[in-house]
Amino acid sequence: MKKVDCIVVGLGLAGIHLSFELQKRNYSVHHIHANLPGESTSVAAGLINPITGRRFVKSWMIEEVMPYAADRYNELGQLLKSNYIDRMHIVRSFQTASDENTWLAKTADSYLSQFLLEKADMADTSESLQLPELMGELKNCYRILTGELQRDYISYLDTLDSISVEEFDFEALSIEPNIRYQEVEAKHIFFAEGWRVVKNPFFEIPAFSPTKGELLIVKAPSLKLTKAYKKDMFITPLGNDLYWCGATSEWNELTVDTSKKMQNRLVDFVTKTIKVPFEIIHRRTGIRPSSKNRKPVLGTHPEYSQLHIFNGMGTKGSSLAPYFSSQLVDYIEGKVEIPHELNVQRYFAKKG
Ligand SMILES: Cc1cc2nc3c(=O)[nH]c(=O)nc-3n(C[C@H](O)[C@H](O)[C@H](O)COP(=O)(O)OP(=O)(O)OC[C@H]3O[C@@H](n4cnc5c(N)ncnc54)[C@H](O)[C@@H]3O)c2cc1C
Repeated sequence: MKKVDCIVVGLGLAGIHLSFELQKRNYSVHHIHANLPGESTSVAAGLINPITGRRFVKSWMIEEVMPYAADRYNELGQLLKSNYIDRMHIVRSFQTASDENTWLAKTADSYLSQFLLEKADMADTSESLQLPELMGELKNCYRILTGELQRDYISYLDTLDSISVEEFDFEALSIEPNIRYQEVEAKHIFFAEGWRVVKNPFFEIPAFSPTKGELLIVKAPSLKLTKAYKKDMFITPLGNDLYWCGATSEWNELTVDTSKKMQNRLVDFVTKTIKVPFEIIHRRTGIRPSSKNRKPVLGTHPEYSQLHIFNGMGTKGSSLAPYFSSQLVDYIEGKVEIPHELNVQRYFAKKG
């Protein structure tokens, strides 16, 4: 029997940051993980964008989470001897002059002003992209190499012999007096399963609203775009002439197959936007683990104090997972309370 402090189930961004945080605080951790269909981390663009939505509002808690995330990805890079965080500019198209004015008014915000450039500069791609007249540009945003991080972190845990690569089997779990799963005994178990939380019998709660996204990876050697560009959807450079194009959104659509309708929409988007030859290399889908209130869902099961959840990263796992994994561990250690709007226990109250 292997005895550890904690078991973490699922190694997307949520599970990776949680595992890293626990181990930084000297907890021993065993991991149960399988790359299952619909996982989000392996297909994400990984952008961290301080301004969001049609009204260009400041992303929720960005002042706290963005610097925190940068530190964590740098630390993970040191641990795994690689780089997972790049600075990236993000250019957005505007439909109207009024949109442009709303955007420019953000320069008055003492935090956001550090990101806003006075004028968007897309001169390098004016011949290769169909560009609108009105655009705005942000500097100092980030792109996280989420798929590479997930692959490398799993390999690292494998070298430590602290991962079982398998689908978690709830039938094999006993929880009292201690957590026991197959040959592993633990004090705590953390579920970080992404959208698959909907299959977890301990957390059958009305908190989640998974959102399917489809995207294309295209190769366009003469495009030479170095910034992420958004008009309806994103074109984000990945290096080696590859571009991430998407993504679509479908709520509560839990199949992982590509759909004709969404693929047509994506092909239409890239065809209208990219003016130079390109080739579609991959068609991918992922299911974002969104919650109904668009906030993380974390905390401890109301009945079983050894069972915890870390989920609801939605469209912003790159920035939210580092900060809130630390909050969750602080909570387990009795250092902080989880705000009501994020606390998983509120959903059980509703259920009852
Ligand atoms: C198309 C798309 C674009 C996105 N772009 C961005 C972006 O630009 N910026 C951003 O911040 N976020 C983006 N996201 C969102 C981001 O991917 C998520 O917020 C984040 O990756 C969620 O991480 P997670 O660990 O909660 O879930 P997941 O990444 O889904 O990870 C959960 C993992 O647990 C494993 N698992 C689940 N159940 C079990 C089980 N029973 N046994 C074993 N293993 C299990 C799964 O296989 C999976 O690997 C995007 C998402 C999509 C789909």
